Amino acid sequence: REFDGIRLEKLREHVWEIPREGDMNVPARVLASEDLLEEIGEDDTLRQLRNATHLPGMVEPALCMPDGHQGYGFPVGGVGAIDARTGCISPGAVGYDINCGVRMVRTSLAYDDVRGREEELVDALFEAIPSGLGGGGVIDGDADAIDGALERGVEWAVEEGYGIESDLAQCEDEGRRPDARPEYVSQKAKDRGRNQLGSLGSGNHFLEVQRVTDVFRDEVADAYGLSEGQVVVLIHCGSRGLGHQTCNDYLRRIEREHADLLESLPDKELAAAPAGSELAEEYYGAMGACINFAWVNRQLITHRTREVFGDVFDADPIDDLEMELLYDVAHNIAKKETHEVGVGPDGLPAVGDEAVDRADRELYVHRKGATRAFPADHEEVPEAYRSVGQPVIIPGSMGAGSYVLRGGSESMSVSFGSTAHGAGRLMSRTQAKQEFWGGDVQDDLESEQAIYVKAQSGATVAEEAPGVYKDVDEVVRVSDELGIGDTVARTFPVCNIKG
Ligand code: 5GP
Ligand code: MN
Ligand code: MN
Repeated sequence: REFDGIRLEKLREHVWEIPREGDMNVPARVLASEDLLEEIGEDDTLRQLRNATHLPGMVEPALCMPDGHQGYGFPVGGVGAIDARTGCISPGAVGYDINCGVRMVRTSLAYDDVRGREEELVDALFEAIPSGLGGGGVIDGDADAIDGALERGVEWAVEEGYGIESDLAQCEDEGRRPDARPEYVSQKAKDRGRNQLGSLGSGNHFLEVQRVTDVFRDEVADAYGLSEGQVVVLIHCGSRGLGHQTCNDYLRRIEREHADLLESLPDKELAAAPAGSELAEEYYGAMGACINFAWVNRQLITHRTREVFGDVFDADPIDDLEMELLYDVAHNIAKKETHEVGVGPDGLPAVGDEAVDRADRELYVHRKGATRAFPADHEEVPEAYRSVGQPVIIPGSMGAGSYVLRGGSESMSVSFGSTAHGAGRLMSRTQAKQEFWGGDVQDDLESEQAIYVKAQSGATVAEEAPGVYKDVDEVVRVSDELGIGDTVARTFPVCNIKG
């Protein structure tokens, strides 16, 4: 297959390789079906993926997940594993919305309990949970709150009374990055975060009440506490202005302080700080703090959501409604992780064909619009799920199904323990606004699918219309067939609030 001069070889079912040539350190691989590849080939994704292989220290192929599409410099749906000793770390390969991510909250409610009350519920949620571009969060973030959130993440939030003990365990990294360094987050970024602590933001971020429509793996669904007809809540948001400002701050500093490395890259948007440099350490620490902030953001929204459900259903959200966190996963993140890679005669990660052996190395695993999907028995999978694998939550769209997967047995060898993070966009926001009208989209969802959407802005609804996304069923089919993330359950929207 060839797209715009970029040739791909089919290695096996769902695995396509852009062979190494010129200054590429490694080949690039796309994990997709024929149909998805066709869509991925339409925008700039493949060129961006090939460019990413030029990043110094990239070991093993740069990867694009089945939901991939173009992003800032590095594709959304991209996974780049870069040697943490000899390589680099790239803010563009993490993304502007640091730890944009999604969590699922279980309930003991059945669809029948909610049916007929969708509007009441959606109105109450919309009222209680700050969304849109305007300021304001669930709490007023004074300096102490910001510091607590940046330093200690969900641990801080639970201590302050915005959650329950089990929220900690059911979150990637237990809701706290150990290497967060708030002192490397600029005052400007902190100021931007102050009145956004507990806010959805705009655009692609949402809170959706859903019902479980299908269960595919009974034993895993049992472990996750999911069953057919059950009502669950999905919360998708990130680090708001604070994360965006931090990404921006470090991109500008990298451009100034590491211009030589920048010169060697095919795209300025891939700007990276060399491993071991002061700037790499500072960005890594600042990013960790932003990750914590995003977790606190989702935690505060969870707290409010529990309060709203308690009011609407006149019951205790924990004791009666059993609103426990299923899991919380990050979309945009780079983390030091140890993985097996090819090494050369000198023991350093090998470039190209020089590998003489395979060995464990510490890598900066960049996941941008990709979800960690660790398999059963991995020590970082919370105890409650260790025997079945990590929950992976894959939103589809406000008019299609979403999925819960579990980290698959092949994920460590195929994708550095990663899989897709959504359906993935088919078209840009600009194009979406030309194709769709928000009010019509809302009316159709309600009359044809009984889905109630409430949004701050009609433009947002148009930009996020179901038609702007790829087929989520196809994305998870590929993930399942590759064995990197196995389908556990499918959900469908009941009502949804957006920015
Ligand atoms: P992203 O993190 O790239 O902004 O979005 C992740 C995924 O969320 C998208 O690829 C899309 O499939 C999904 N998504 C966007 N809006 C909605 C929504 O309103 N409801 C659901 N269930 N999924 C959505
Ligand atoms: Mn985001
Ligand atoms: Mn996201």
